[in-house]
Formats: sequence, C-alpha cells, structure tokens
Amino acid sequence: MLEMRSVCEHCSKALPSDSGEAMICAYECTFCSNCVEAILENKCPNCGGTFEKRPIKKTTS
Ligand SMILES: [Zn+2]
Ligand SMILES: [Zn+2]
Repeated sequence: MLEMRSVCEHCSKALPSDSGEAMICAYECTFCSNCVEAILENKCPNCGGTFEKRPIKKTTS
C-alpha cells in the first residue's frame, strides 16, 4: 500500500498531495524540492536513490 507522506522528511515542510514542491525517491522517501536541490543534491539520504517530482494528485468529484 502506497502511503502518501505529507511533510518533507528533512525540514518538515508541509507537502500536501497537490503540492508542486514534493519530490520522491524510488522508495517513496519524500522531501521538498528545496531540500533535494540545495541540501541533498538529488541523492536520497535514506537509500541513495535519485529523486523525481511527485505527481500532483487531483481529486475530481
Ligand atoms: Zn525540505
Ligand atoms: Zn529514499
């Protein structure tokens, strides 16, 4: 089951499901784009993977 984390694991910045700033690694570690670029240098500190932008989840009702 895929769990959507809603905060950056580094700075605890809020990353709601519609946030364009959320980045995830191959193992679903979640960070904000600022931490990925400025601090992590696109390398996950947990598993060493690279990041991609988390798709924005839109709820259509
Ligand atoms: Zn962050
Ligand atoms: Zn990771």
